Amino acid sequence: MLKVVIDVERCKGCELCVHYCPPKVLAMSPALNTRGFYSVVLIDEERCTSCAACAIVCPDMAITVYKAERVAVR
Ligand code: SF4
Ligand code: SF4
Repeated sequence: MLKVVIDVERCKGCELCVHYCPPKVLAMSPALNTRGFYSVVLIDEERCTSCAACAIVCPDMAITVYKAERVAVR
């Protein structure tokens, strides 16, 4: 399951999430969305910590972060 889901059409390319992501795994896409904005993309899912900072700072609620369920191991 993806850790970060970005609603490209809601994104207005303000780059706030890019600056607030601690491991710097977000970047701006070279492609425009239908509203004419460069949207954000996750460039390295492996290094994403699911901290949700990007979702919290996004003024347009364009990002949803999922955390993996903890599974008990015997
Ligand atoms: S959840 Fe945290 S680490 Fe992952 S992209 Fe968002 S701000 Fe970066
Ligand atoms: S903070 Fe939200 S609107 Fe701004 S670039 Fe990131 S996803 Fe897009």
